[in-house]
Amino acid sequence: MPPAELSQLQNALLTWFVEHQRDLPWRKNYPAYGVWISEMMLQQTRVATVLDYYDRWMKALPSIPSVAAADEATILKLWEGLGYYARARNIHRAAKQICEQHSGEFPNDYDAIRQLPGIGPYTAGAIASIAFEQDRPVVDGNVIRVLCRLLNLDADPKAGSTQKKLWQVATDWLPSGHARNFNQGLMELGATVCHVQQPSCLLCPIQPHCQAYVHQTTETVPRRTQRKAPTPVTKAVLVLVCENQVLLRRPEQGLMQGLWTFPETLVKEEEPLVELQAEWQLRNRPNFQLQTSWPTLTHAYTTFLATLHPFYCTLTSIQADFPLEAEEQWHPLQSLPKLAMAKAHGHLRQRLLNQNNQDSP
Ligand code: SF4
Repeated sequence: MPPAELSQLQNALLTWFVEHQRDLPWRKNYPAYGVWISEMMLQQTRVATVLDYYDRWMKALPSIPSVAAADEATILKLWEGLGYYARARNIHRAAKQICEQHSGEFPNDYDAIRQLPGIGPYTAGAIASIAFEQDRPVVDGNVIRVLCRLLNLDADPKAGSTQKKLWQVATDWLPSGHARNFNQGLMELGATVCHVQQPSCLLCPIQPHCQAYVHQTTETVPRRTQRKAPTPVTKAVLVLVCENQVLLRRPEQGLMQGLWTFPETLVKEEEPLVELQAEWQLRNRPNFQLQTSWPTLTHAYTTFLATLHPFYCTLTSIQADFPLEAEEQWHPLQSLPKLAMAKAHGHLRQRLLNQNNQDSP
């Protein structure tokens, strides 16, 4: 793009951002801690969803040392429902690292930011430019869409060569000294005007510079890649209650690491669920009664779609020798709301608590 046109584009975007930016809590004085937490929460998640989580998080953990000092259960409970829990665990690890290596102050050196767990080039660029006003580019999903359309770049946006080109463009087009607003302007435009479908081109401040608008290719650029259909899996879930206690498990690794779940087991296609329930009973767990099977529920994960068949069962008394399987524990029913649970299991918790309230005299 010729320098004079680039300058017009930069000015138009900067002016538009100042006038049209959404009023978001982390934009008040741009504290590095707040910008960091918001960026971590916003990965794969919409602003509208993040707002409540951000507010709760900041009230509970107002500083980086408070995050470092918190236990993992507190961190996961504050994150409960946001998904992609590795982000929360990385924040926890990074806060400890910041306290050990940077006296609890978020580092402003780009290389030091990149050393923190869970921070890749996008997040580091966002923190460096937004919190510290450094001339660092950002390329996220919104920026990719805006840049591809401005350039009318009909290429696979996930391809390495496209990514390289877009990072280069984001670097070359960055107006020195204005990275905070320019980067946010690109992202904000992508989120609120340059939509995936039917972008609001007539409201767009940089429309005169947009090649996709000129060539009427905004519906096909950027190219959409076909997502692989998630693999269906079926699971049986045991909701076992005894003497106001419920059996839970907390996996130490894997997708559900650190989150509480009801015990669950994969069901093979050919395995009738009724046999499965018998199998549970035969696992040396005497005296437990199937009360009812609850309606199934489905939950989509990134790569698979789970159908859960919950079985509500009771046990007359917990014998001292009741065999617990790995990672299982009995928990008082009244403590359930305080535990961080995997999302689908959180729905089952609510069902159990509702039922318990109805059953109580
Ligand atoms: Fe996006 Fe339309 Fe603006 Fe081009 S003119 S950047 S397609 S909103």
